[in-house]
Amino acid sequence: MNLLLFDIDGTLILSGGAGFRAMTQAFADLYGPTDAFDGVELAGRTDTSIFQDALKKYDIPDDDGRLELFKSRYFELLPHEIGKTEGNKRIMPGVEPLLQRLVQLPNVALGLLTGNWEVSGRIKLGHFALAKYFSFGAFADDSAIRADLLPFAVARYEKQTGRCVQPEQVFVVGDTPADILCAKPHGAVSVAVAAAHYSADQLREHQPDYLFDDLQDASRFLAILR
Ligand SMILES: [Mg+2]
Repeated sequence: MNLLLFDIDGTLILSGGAGFRAMTQAFADLYGPTDAFDGVELAGRTDTSIFQDALKKYDIPDDDGRLELFKSRYFELLPHEIGKTEGNKRIMPGVEPLLQRLVQLPNVALGLLTGNWEVSGRIKLGHFALAKYFSFGAFADDSAIRADLLPFAVARYEKQTGRCVQPEQVFVVGDTPADILCAKPHGAVSVAVAAAHYSADQLREHQPDYLFDDLQDASRFLAILR
């Protein structure tokens, strides 16, 4: 079995800034500041930790309930933002044909490992009709720390199928150093894709097991599976 866990932003799709705009608006609606996430590093992080940084920036206590309130407002705003035709919004090259091939393979299961919350991740993928490929995953709802997410996805897969999976059967596919680093401590295989925020040279520094310029060469991708 090959358990493939895909990152969303920069790996499967680009939201054209919809996530950033909806988070910014949600923060403004709840707390006032209209530039809460300007200059904040977003790529590869969980939305929970990004939100917590913004609270800190304005000395707002991270009380119980604030995160849930923010998520609700963000989930209301995101469908509208992702519907706009602005920014660089698209499915990443090769993704759809690759998913179509992978989903037909009996020894492959497709999941998500993303810094998005589950609801917003599915809104983003749903906009591009890609949500149907992924029945389970690990999300920012599970932990603010991306490196802690992988076991949640594996546990959900095992619960859903009744099968056990070994660490070396788990592949983490993502576009940032954080994606590589969240595979390594768990003994999983890291597959870096240099199609969005980081160049191949930048990703190579973090020693991924495999490095792709994009996901257009489906045959090469299939060849790394066991
Ligand atoms: Mg990403």
